[in-house]
Amino acid sequence: MAERINNYDNTNRLFDRAADAVELPEDQRLLLKTPFREVQVEVPVRMSDGNIEVFLGYRVQHNTARGPMKGGLRYHPHVDIDEARALASLMTWKTALVDVPFGGAKGGITCDPKELTEKELEHLTRRFTTRIGLAWGLHTDVPAPDVNTNAQIMAWIMDEYSQRYGYTPGIVTGKPLALGGSPGREAATGRGVSIITREATRDFGIELKGARIAIQGFGNVGSWTARILSEMGANIVAVSDASGGIYASDGLPIDDLFHYSYKRRTIERFGQGEAISNEDLLTLDCDILIPAALGGSITKDNAKDIKAKMVVEAANSPVTTIADAILEERGVIIVPDILANAGGVTVSYFEWVQNIQAFSWDETQVNDKLEGIMSRAYANVITTMKEMAVPMRTAAFAISIQRVAEAEKLRGGF
Ligand code: NAD
Repeated sequence: MAERINNYDNTNRLFDRAADAVELPEDQRLLLKTPFREVQVEVPVRMSDGNIEVFLGYRVQHNTARGPMKGGLRYHPHVDIDEARALASLMTWKTALVDVPFGGAKGGITCDPKELTEKELEHLTRRFTTRIGLAWGLHTDVPAPDVNTNAQIMAWIMDEYSQRYGYTPGIVTGKPLALGGSPGREAATGRGVSIITREATRDFGIELKGARIAIQGFGNVGSWTARILSEMGANIVAVSDASGGIYASDGLPIDDLFHYSYKRRTIERFGQGEAISNEDLLTLDCDILIPAALGGSITKDNAKDIKAKMVVEAANSPVTTIADAILEERGVIIVPDILANAGGVTVSYFEWVQNIQAFSWDETQVNDKLEGIMSRAYANVITTMKEMAVPMRTAAFAISIQRVAEAEKLRGGF
């Protein structure tokens, strides 16, 4: 039977495992699992050929007990309400884990941006904003970039929202610097992944200097992770994107590859390294595997063939629940997504704070504060993992669940 991938049930199974470990009462489980609000909108766009095409857009607002809801917008053919629910829930646990005053949300549009012209993409984004923006707000829900969305798309959202509700740069994060974006935001998720990888290699006996690392996905998260880990002395032996992968046993020239792909949005035809398929990259003989593309790439079918000693989840939900159990059984260390990729939402929080204060920080200040938050969150997870004698993922969820449960209880109202 095919394994169901990257859906709300999978996320809830991870939640339940940690809820069992902290003996969370049944009524609180229900409260914490049920999304606060779900919005679906029709997004009609007149295409450049004159026809009207109707897209569907979503926003799932999962939990608001600890603050305004926060989470990315994804433009992809696989976006649907179930995926948005799963990812919104992860955002609740992620923001709680790094202890920034946000809840969780996620959304997006079912579309293939590669098939759209720049103008169509802009119309789609603006129409989506007008239809769904009534559910957003500086103190309600603040979107950010995710797969196939970027600073330009955030700029259109900020502009469209501000035309309707007045100048509100803080309505989205991940904006261009010229519109109130934060220094360091673009690199933040990859920087956070690198900080957590550095801490985990130290604790689990892997020498980061010279460690052989394979990274699946070379978009915002994957490319910055590769660049920063390479600066830390790691050897990035393979990377891939939707076009395929490249491998070099002595390490790829990451700086050149970063600049190449930054302009072209692909690593295709880079011209160095051997070609490798995405499937082979995942099972490559390496020390650390970093999935940084879409969810559900490590499944029950390939988990037994993973050779890495450590998997650092830069993407959201890259390991299915069955694969998670297989890897755990095999002794592979899994650094969970809600910890590993929380650097993005952390610097999004800094951006939101700067926008509210109409005051900007410099990049060193941003990176130093990010370092502090990420290493503190990591240390908390390791302490909890040892105290509870559970895997790192369960420890991370346990910390978050207890924080959100406490906030819900103190706020009351039911
Ligand atoms: P992106 O759109 O910038 O990059 C996605 C990358 O994945 C691209 O290189 C794409 O070609 C590649 N890809 C797509 N399908 C693939 C496949 N089948 N095999 C290999 N590569 C494939 O997106 P991103 O912002 O880098 O997000 C990547 C992941 O990180 C997502 O799971 C996202 O939810 C998560 N994430 C992103 C952020 C952020 O700040 N952008 C924060 C936290 C988590």
